[in-house]
Amino acid sequence: MKKLQLKNDSVENRFSVQTKCIDAIIIKDGFSGFEINHKPFKGACCGCTSKTCASYSEEEIYSEIFSAFPKNPSKRVCPTDAITFKNGYAYIDSNLCIKCGLCVHRCPYAAIQFSLENNTCSINTARNSIFIKQSEIEQTKDILDLKTKPRKILIDNIPFTFADTLSKKLETYSNRYPDLSEIVVRNTLLNLGICCNTNAAGNNHNRIEFFAECEDYFIIGESQISNADTLSVTRRILDDLAVLISRYQFEKDKLIPLAVVNGFPNKRTDFYEVIEDINNVIKVQVVTLSYHALFVLNLFKPHISVRHFKSFVINRTKDSLLSPMKRIIEKLEDIDENTNGIHYTPIK
Ligand code: SF4
Ligand code: SF4
Repeated sequence: MKKLQLKNDSVENRFSVQTKCIDAIIIKDGFSGFEINHKPFKGACCGCTSKTCASYSEEEIYSEIFSAFPKNPSKRVCPTDAITFKNGYAYIDSNLCIKCGLCVHRCPYAAIQFSLENNTCSINTARNSIFIKQSEIEQTKDILDLKTKPRKILIDNIPFTFADTLSKKLETYSNRYPDLSEIVVRNTLLNLGICCNTNAAGNNHNRIEFFAECEDYFIIGESQISNADTLSVTRRILDDLAVLISRYQFEKDKLIPLAVVNGFPNKRTDFYEVIEDINNVIKVQVVTLSYHALFVLNLFKPHISVRHFKSFVINRTKDSLLSPMKRIIEKLEDIDENTNGIHYTPIK
């Protein structure tokens, strides 16, 4: 087997190791890398041929069930195209980067360094850690090996201001990237192992914004970055359900309608009324996630099942995702509910 080479003159880094020697991939604030014999080594970009940091493969976004639905052909990982390449090595344009974290788990060599504390995301190009310079076939095998390594997510603090920052960045960039919201939702679900596609721009035949397969259920839904138009989300979901059930004969019991919003609406608004109406009339429960909840799910990369998904229920009396999120990510300690339920307090 080819060796992973640590390219550095220091004694510590004059070290070569086979992928089987890597015990775990570590992700913590400002540090991504490998654990070898209980010692952490920062990952670095090796200019790999797969470039999984930049795009999903056709297989990752292929959906048999929804193959007839026109879909957004973009396979980009980064919603704002902040990742570029020079001589094959990846770089992140910090002006474009919205710190969504979607790229972080995509690099098999843990080269992407993401810090919530410092609000930064960059590629380690120092090449002073483990990196691989091999043929495509050898890289593919190493990537497969690396995928089997356990992940240690050691994020122990989500700064209180982070949700605000993310929320504002999404709003700032939504005009510049018209499909920003769909890409964030799609990529989060893809990163969680749920095959998701988004609608093609301008497709008026059916307007379902995103559709995904999870076990033998279908997650369909709508999202809205601007808080000014959150109410339209549930109305569009009602429209989606009508189209899928009446035109395409989907079984309603197999549908999980998902509303993604930037902040939970005021309890007196129609948002909750439409959710209640849908449940009362056709007995389908709409579930709701905030972009920040999606961000946290992506960061901790938990195993998520239909049972988990169905528990993201908010209504007039319950507008917190604390319990379902804690069931999925045990490390979460608390959520501040003063600001629309989207702030998480630091975790231990
Ligand atoms: S950042 Fe990672 S996935 Fe992207 S080119 Fe470098 S090694 Fe490959
Ligand atoms: S953190 Fe998000 S915006 Fe920044 S480079 Fe990664 S995917 Fe792009």
